[in-house]
Amino acid sequence: MKSFIPVYQPDLSGNEKAYVNECIDTTWISSKGRFVTEFEQQFAKSTDVSFAVSVSNGTVALHLALLALGVGPGDEVIVPSFTYVASINAIHYVGAMPVFVDIEAESWQMDCKQVERCITTKTKAIMAVHLYGHPCDMVILQQLARQHKLYLLEDCAEAFGTKLYGMHVGNFSDVATYSFFGNKTITTGEGGMVVTQNVELDSEVRHLKGQGLKAGREYWHDIVGYNYRMTNICAAIGLAQLERAEGFLKCKQNIAQYYLRQLADLPLTMQVIQQGAWHSWWMFSILTDTTVQRDALRKHLLDAGIETRPLFNPVHLMPMYNQEQILPISENIASRGVNLPSWPGLTIEQLQRIVAEVRVFFKREYSKL
Ligand SMILES: *Cc1c(COP(=O)(O)O)cnc(C)c1O
Repeated sequence: MKSFIPVYQPDLSGNEKAYVNECIDTTWISSKGRFVTEFEQQFAKSTDVSFAVSVSNGTVALHLALLALGVGPGDEVIVPSFTYVASINAIHYVGAMPVFVDIEAESWQMDCKQVERCITTKTKAIMAVHLYGHPCDMVILQQLARQHKLYLLEDCAEAFGTKLYGMHVGNFSDVATYSFFGNKTITTGEGGMVVTQNVELDSEVRHLKGQGLKAGREYWHDIVGYNYRMTNICAAIGLAQLERAEGFLKCKQNIAQYYLRQLADLPLTMQVIQQGAWHSWWMFSILTDTTVQRDALRKHLLDAGIETRPLFNPVHLMPMYNQEQILPISENIASRGVNLPSWPGLTIEQLQRIVAEVRVFFKREYSKL
């Protein structure tokens, strides 16, 4: 009996259990405790940023980042439509308008030429999303932001470990965010991080996430804040994950290289790595020729006990954001894409099985012609 291969599965086999037990044994289970501070410090160190603020998930991390920059009603934020819906929702939460741009066909990242064309007097910020672990062209985006006096944000939820010209993503903008959902490269169950090089933004995010409590005065709140704090239990898991992050990234690199090698001769399209980019391969993704073929491949794999996911649906098509806009590349790529299992613990036998089933599918497809 062949076992089921999920599309993702966190690896919690390091110090996760010991650290969580420490939280319980010491009763430090809420949002104070040593793991919160240590996780923030180690995270800042491992991604080369000055400040890291832990929060309860990646969506609220984006919300706080936008609030701390003062983005609000009347402002426009330029963002790719081809992303997870949370990037756009956060813009909506602060009362700003998302302005959707298409993606580049090779990298699947936001098209910088379109970003430039979308800048108006209302534009306040550009939100770059490093989708599936490949970096956006931050050099051009930095130039545009500087030239037009715009804030630059990076949604690094899918890009832990991603680099551009040797520098970690999250370093190219005013403020950047991460998610530690269960299927992200490092996880805390639910969790997120806001990172910045700017001490004032760091203080502002801390102020906002802790109910607007004024430092040095008990129960005195000088703004309407939020409770977006991470628990010590989540941070304990996060710290244990960080200890093994290099290993996770290495495994994901090997998995991607294996898929690239073994699927190279099939009629599939993959993300093309751009100059200067170091891809962290959050989710290895392939494009078939058509949607019909994509759906048939997914069904074939599922019948063989292999879970897959479709790529994200472009957000400009969803009812709450529908602007009757056409973004042809996003719509086309989203309609043909599949995420293959991409978690670091996949064994060589499991990878061989996945590749073999993809090959069986195409053999059958082409014998029909
Ligand atoms: C996962 C993800 C988020 C949101 O993170 P949560 O922790 O699930 O709230 C935001 N943006 C992108 C691109 C993501 O993939």
